[in-house]
Amino acid sequence: MSIQELLSQKLEEIDPAKYAKTRNYVSGGVTELGPFISRGVIDTRWVWEHLLKKGYDFDVMYGFVQQLAWRDFFQRVWQQRGEGINLDIRRNQEGVEHELIPSAIANGATGIEGIDRGIGSLLNSGLMHNHIRMYTAFLSCNLGKSHWHLSAQWMYSHLLDGDWGSNALSWQWVAGTFSNKKYIANQENINRFTDTNQNGTYLDKPYEELLESKIPNQLMELTGMEDVLPYSECDEDAMLSTAKEHGLKTLTKIDLDGLDSVSLFNYYQLSFQWQSGISSLPILLLEPSVFKRYPISKKCLDFMCSVAKEIPGMRVFVGEFCALEKVLDGCEVHFREHPLNLHYKGQIHQRNWLAPEVEGEFSSFFSYWKKVEKSLRRESKEYRGN
Ligand SMILES: Cc1cc2nc3c(=O)[nH]c(=O)nc-3n(C[C@H](O)[C@H](O)[C@H](O)COP(=O)(O)OP(=O)(O)OC[C@H]3O[C@@H](n4cnc5c(N)ncnc54)[C@H](O)[C@@H]3O)c2cc1C
Repeated sequence: MSIQELLSQKLEEIDPAKYAKTRNYVSGGVTELGPFISRGVIDTRWVWEHLLKKGYDFDVMYGFVQQLAWRDFFQRVWQQRGEGINLDIRRNQEGVEHELIPSAIANGATGIEGIDRGIGSLLNSGLMHNHIRMYTAFLSCNLGKSHWHLSAQWMYSHLLDGDWGSNALSWQWVAGTFSNKKYIANQENINRFTDTNQNGTYLDKPYEELLESKIPNQLMELTGMEDVLPYSECDEDAMLSTAKEHGLKTLTKIDLDGLDSVSLFNYYQLSFQWQSGISSLPILLLEPSVFKRYPISKKCLDFMCSVAKEIPGMRVFVGEFCALEKVLDGCEVHFREHPLNLHYKGQIHQRNWLAPEVEGEFSSFFSYWKKVEKSLRRESKEYRGN
């Protein structure tokens, strides 16, 4: 099945009423649209318009659209704070004992079945349910007392929907550096949402006791950055050879003959829609400096290449923007705004947001959501003509 067919299928399958009732369960009605949204194939606005056309009442869509708004909120925070999202935002993380990651987490051997199954899925398929992401982050930061950053990088590197804005800020939310308190879950809660029935584990305790716990033995062995981040899977040679495996052609001087403009695509911008609006050569720019800071696994590179390959005429350039600029020799460059693109030069195009007029800095998600909700409720009313 092509990426476009898979995407259409996933869009058709959205059931907002079921979503609202079951999204917290691993077997619940989540959409798995994450990889398409995070890779910029579609945006939250597109999903919203799709639901509007389906004729759903706003209150039926409420729970689902609110989750889409979390995505936009995190993007707005990244846009506002830039590199600042790599630092503890509201307060320093309390109780940190090290900056490594428990080996049991990296290997999916924590002894908590619901979590280990979820980590297995992450490592094998690049997918992980939201609740398991929260449990894993809780285990690493709040029980294992790791600083959030390396664990977040590890999870990001494996997620097909890896998005550094949603990722870093969600980890900070769990670790209490971007929220009012640390997130906590016990075995009973995990059993309920992951369809497991374990007892007697180190999480089988009341919440008050868990908060006071020492690091459990199972989380004592630690692993460092070089061992858990897939640097070699996304170095320059590896990226080029993966692109070639997928049949993508690399950019040559001949491709640019007689051309006036090019459109830049990258790991965060692979929209089919945007490309069709501009008649210029599409180039997938893979900057080694970006992947050195935020390494990704081969699975994620494969997914990116399968998407890129469906954009007609796509060429790949592995190198920094300044090197590409020299090759382009004066061609006009189009690109989409993104916090990792601040150094690109050329004609900037805006991303699509759920509610484009709601911008700026917000003290919390709910102050952001209040404005987005108002705007979308109005739009839904107008669309339905009542
Ligand atoms: C520790 C942690 C790390 C995370 N890392 C990422 C990440 O790297 N990339 C990423 O896109 N999301 C991340 N999330 C948010 C969320 O887990 C995923 O967006 C969601 O699980 C994706 O699955 P889905 O597409 O089936 O989502 P659905 O539940 O079907 O939701 C549809 C879309 O809404 C958005 N969305 C839903 N829930 C959230 C949320 N809580 N926060 C932000 N957006 C949301 C996503 O774009 C998602 O694809 C993280 C959450 C946690 C707790």
